Amino acid sequence: MSSAPAQIAVTGLAVMGRNLARNLARNGFRVAVHNRSKGRTDALIQEFGHEGEFVPADDLPALVASLERPRKIIIMVQAGPATDAVIDELVPLLDEGDIVVDAGNAHFLDTRRRQDALQASGLHFVGSGVSGGEEGALNGPSIMPGGSVESYAALEPMLTKIAAQVGDQPCCVHVGPDGAGHFVKMLHNGIEYADMQLIAEAYDLLRHVLGLSPAELADVFRDWNTGDLESFLIEITADVLSQTDPTAGGAFVDIVLDQAEQKGTGRWTVQSTLDLGIPVSGMAEAVFARSLSGDVVRRSAAAGVLPGPASEKADVDRDAFIDDVRHALYSSKLVAYAQGFDAIRAASEQYDWDIDLGAMATIWRGGCIIRARFLDRIKEAYDRNPALPSLLVDDYFKEAVANGQEAWRRVVATAAQVGVPAPGFSAALSYYDGLRAERLPAALIQGLRDLFGAHTYKRVDQEGTYHLEWSGDRSETRS
Ligand code: NAP
Repeated sequence: MSSAPAQIAVTGLAVMGRNLARNLARNGFRVAVHNRSKGRTDALIQEFGHEGEFVPADDLPALVASLERPRKIIIMVQAGPATDAVIDELVPLLDEGDIVVDAGNAHFLDTRRRQDALQASGLHFVGSGVSGGEEGALNGPSIMPGGSVESYAALEPMLTKIAAQVGDQPCCVHVGPDGAGHFVKMLHNGIEYADMQLIAEAYDLLRHVLGLSPAELADVFRDWNTGDLESFLIEITADVLSQTDPTAGGAFVDIVLDQAEQKGTGRWTVQSTLDLGIPVSGMAEAVFARSLSGDVVRRSAAAGVLPGPASEKADVDRDAFIDDVRHALYSSKLVAYAQGFDAIRAASEQYDWDIDLGAMATIWRGGCIIRARFLDRIKEAYDRNPALPSLLVDDYFKEAVANGQEAWRRVVATAAQVGVPAPGFSAALSYYDGLRAERLPAALIQGLRDLFGAHTYKRVDQEGTYHLEWSGDRSETRS
């Protein structure tokens, strides 16, 4: 414990806040700590007080009084009303120029609202994404702070020190004003959903089509983790697949109930990107697949009742099919990231955030769940062309998909043929084909819309907006 003023405070000492406070203390910062129920504060000091300089506080006035100015207070409580409750209690205790950081998983629109309110009181509000779960919070998370440039300048020395480091670069960069940090964190979680769905589809297809055991599949993923797919999620997939159930024996994955849960950030991503008009089919299919997995009523009514294909066998070569699935996974993953970066670009334009897309790939390289070798390639793509319209048209990625697209098509066709659901792989391929098409059937949709609702259409050969007199002489008028 210390009697000197604390440099920063953390309120909310459940798993994330406690570990973030320990991370700050271990890195040499004097950190004031507080939790609504005092037991968590006492436990932190008792168990980890020796790790650095902690200043425990029984209530928020004591926490505020213990801090040097401008005060920097990190809130790490449940997102939603709990965060508002803490902010409401804190604000009257603070002075102009103090900095309130919300490091929970807030919706970026809530962050924008809170930023407006606190700005009116002369305070800085920083909505910051923190990724990497409890492990990351303790040993180095990926940090995505929003808010003013001024507040980031004050926080930067601490945040960059406690963040994950890749080489000599911290996984922390100022994302942009107000809700930018939380938007990027939300997108990170959406991409994480898509990544996991695609991995699960690869596993499912290899298991059904080749009849590989979970232990054999663990070896496949281990092998993939030495190439372009190298990532934390591929590494832990091998770990989970090679795990034996400690209670009943046998493969652990076979004893786990097949209903995936979701806390909501994937759904937020899809809802928000729909509002921006950006198709994020990889993330949407991942959210839908989790919802379907949990829809016990309809699944039990249909399982074993709805007919599948006449044959569930495919005539494929083992090694060739494994390699095909690797290509399908890589290409589909690339589509999900391309869509994710499109969404960040669109939000950045809509809200004037001026987000550096390449820098976002940099801060996800360490400390977070989607950390991957692949992110270096994304950074390089934006370095080559900061105005890149889509990651898919970057030369490196274009070539990677060109090399794997026949394999990707075979995998999607095989999945349909044997009746194994692969919504992520097939939606990604459809997006790719839609994107590269020189002409889309949207022309027919425009024709239909003009016929039933006089919604008008544009022509390929002339400027202007047109309507056909469908119920009359079918002449064309220009409006
Ligand atoms: P949590 O379970 O989300 O929240 C528990 C904490 O919130 C406790 O400290 C609790 O205090 C406090 N709290 C709840 N309602 C409150 C209120 N009305 N007033 C004051 N405090 C209140 O904790 P967590 O898992 O550590 O997560 C913290 C934040 O980080 C969340 O926003 C979460 O979404 C985000 N996050 C979590 C993870 C993760 O892996 N868990 C990863 C990234 C981000 P009491 O002890 O008094 O109940």
